[in-house]
Formats: sequence, structure tokens, C-alpha cells
Amino acid sequence: MPEESPISVHVVRVTQFAQNCMLIVCNKTKKCAVVDPGGDVERIMDEARKYGVRIEKIWISHGHLDHGGGAKELKAFTAAPIEGPAIEDALWVSSIPQNARQCGMTGMDSFVPDRWLKDGDTVEIGETTWQVIHCPGHTPGHVVFYNKEANFAAVGDVLFKNSIGRADLMGSDPKALIRSITQKLWPLGDVSFIPGHGSASSFGAERQHNPYVSDAVLSR
Ligand SMILES: [Zn+2]
Repeated sequence: MPEESPISVHVVRVTQFAQNCMLIVCNKTKKCAVVDPGGDVERIMDEARKYGVRIEKIWISHGHLDHGGGAKELKAFTAAPIEGPAIEDALWVSSIPQNARQCGMTGMDSFVPDRWLKDGDTVEIGETTWQVIHCPGHTPGHVVFYNKEANFAAVGDVLFKNSIGRADLMGSDPKALIRSITQKLWPLGDVSFIPGHGSASSFGAERQHNPYVSDAVLSR
């Protein structure tokens, strides 16, 4: 992130899937958007208190339980509106409780977003504006949140350091996933990102080293 970045990002690993829930803070206003509160809502709120930031938005990348399972509870505590994912994930969002039970997890809820997002929308936290990029493939309604000024994206389960999102799940589309990465993300430049699981990286590094979507692999 650039030296005088307009944002700070704090990661809280939530649920048994170690999902990277993110507190994205507008440095000027100390207003905070929580991206993908899959669960462990008390810990997310503790983290917000620790940094002295106010949770005012809840952004959801896609409808899987480890990303959205705590959204309703966090909204109940904070009154922050839930924005995202895209409406193509409505079935996934509504299936969260039943999928959680199958995984033996409790306390997970479905939710109705205050706003379904679509490609080209913008969302705001404090004085920062984020582009919404529809990136189907892992799920049909997956969105990525991108801030140009900070050169940063929260990419959910689309792209990982040295890997890509699973495309063998219900409603996944492997070809759409590759298209999302190469046609929607790569054109943004060498953007730093934090994925839904694992370590941070950048689009530039993945174009060089990622065994699934590097330029070399895809040109074969
Ligand atoms: Zn997922």
C-alpha cells in the first residue's frame, strides 16, 4: 500500500475455514467497512474497538457461509447496511444456515442484503470509493471490491496467492473464473490484494508465479 494510503486494512481470521475477514478503515474518518464477516462476530467487533474505528458498512463478496454467516449478527450489533454480493448468489446466501448445519457449525444466519451489487457499482466507506467488479466463476454472484487510490482489492475466493478459487462446487464455472481473473482483474494493473484465505499478494506477482493463471501458463 502507498505511504499515505487513504485506507488501513486489518485481517481477522474467522470460522474453522480461517477466512480473512477484513476491517477496511478510511484513515481520515476512522469509518470502517467489514468485508466478509463469516462468523466470530464478537472478535470482529473487539478488533474494531482496538483500532478505535466505527463499523458503518458490511460488504459481502459472495454467498458462502464462511464469508457471510455472521453478516446478520454484525448488522444487528452495528446497524451497518449489508452491501453485496451480486443477486446471482441469492440461493447461496439463503442456503447458509443449512450448509452450516452440514458442516456442524452453529450460529450462522442467512441475510437479505440492503443492496445487491452489480458490475460497475461503487460502494463507499468514509471518504473512499470502491469499484464493484463482478467476477463469476467460484460462485455466480461473486464480487471484488477495488480502491484505485490505495491500489488495493479485496478479492474473496476468486484469486489466491499461488492458487485460484475452487471451481468444482455447486454453480461454479471454471472457464468463467479464468475469464474473471484475466479480463476483469489483470487490466487493473499490479494491484495489491488480500484474498479470502491465506496470504496477501499482488496481481503482478500472480501473473508471474501463479500455477493456474500466470501469463506463461495461459499462453501455452
Ligand atoms: Zn467461497
